[in-house]
Amino acid sequence: MKSILDLPGNAAGLQALFAALEGPHILVGLYDPADRLDFANSTFRAAFQLDEAGREMTFADVILHGVLRHCGARIDRGDALEFIAETQARRRGEPGQRHFATDLVDGRWFWMTETLLDSGWLVVIGTEISTLRHGEQALIASRDRAIQEARTDALTGLANRRHSLSYLELAISAFAHAAVPLTVALVDLDHFKSINDIYGHAAGDAVLRDFAELSRKAMRQSDLIGRIGGEEFLLVFPGTSVDEAAAAVERIRCSLTGRRVAIGAEVLIGYSFSSGVCGVELTDDINMALERADRALYTAKRAGRNRVVLRRQGHA
Ligand code: GH3
Ligand code: MG
Ligand code: MG
Repeated sequence: MKSILDLPGNAAGLQALFAALEGPHILVGLYDPADRLDFANSTFRAAFQLDEAGREMTFADVILHGVLRHCGARIDRGDALEFIAETQARRRGEPGQRHFATDLVDGRWFWMTETLLDSGWLVVIGTEISTLRHGEQALIASRDRAIQEARTDALTGLANRRHSLSYLELAISAFAHAAVPLTVALVDLDHFKSINDIYGHAAGDAVLRDFAELSRKAMRQSDLIGRIGGEEFLLVFPGTSVDEAAAAVERIRCSLTGRRVAIGAEVLIGYSFSSGVCGVELTDDINMALERADRALYTAKRAGRNRVVLRRQGHA
């Protein structure tokens, strides 16, 4: 068996090597010490739409040529000059090899190996990894979907109990030493059992979905609303005072006045809720905060329902 140094004397071996470098899924380019593209295989030329004139182009020319023709390397930042300046410094730094993944405007991905030789010649070899990359992206997307589903209540699309509680726990530790307040609210729909009893379980479900949709729209992006029980909801308001949060819950409550959920063609159901709102204090753990909100909610129920009761700090 010969070593690579013996190849020049082995015409058949060289031919085989060159033939392999012309494959459709491999990019090969040779830049001379002045960074002019001396050789590009057919896949490289096709990817950058280079004709024979390409032989006189520098690396910067090749990239710009691609940008102007909407082909070649994908440049996210939209600033080809910045890309060239940054890349230039890296590829012409120290002799040796660099490896990286790159994607083309046409959606293909390549695993690139760039070799800068002591002589100043730079050899670029890219192997297409589109299938691998797209598979990986599909995997990441399905993992993200699975995480999202595990956090979501199937009926309402809100955060489920587990995610709501862990979010609150996180918020409590994040806000423990912050100057801004953290407020929680518990919401429980009133006489919900009667809705189920009179109109049926499906009607109850429709009311739950209606409440979820209405409140989600009424709340800010940074707030969280989750369904923590049958008709019980936890609302977390980071950076919001008890008064502000209570006002937000009160607005949701008022928006239910006169609101009706349509069940089939004829039945329209009205509903209301009671809520307990309280500030989270420095010494609170999640149970203490929830207990205080629950006591306020109980007070709201006892006082006749369809109301919001708030507890400010110090009223444990
Ligand atoms: P209160 O005003 O005191 O809160 O009275 P309530 O009837 O709302 O309270 P209760 O806890 O007695 O009833 C809650 C009802 O919620 C009982 C249960 O059947 C119903 N429920 C729990 N989960 C679901 C669900 O997913 N869908 C429907 N339709 N009903 C549910
Ligand atoms: Mg309840
Ligand atoms: Mg209830």
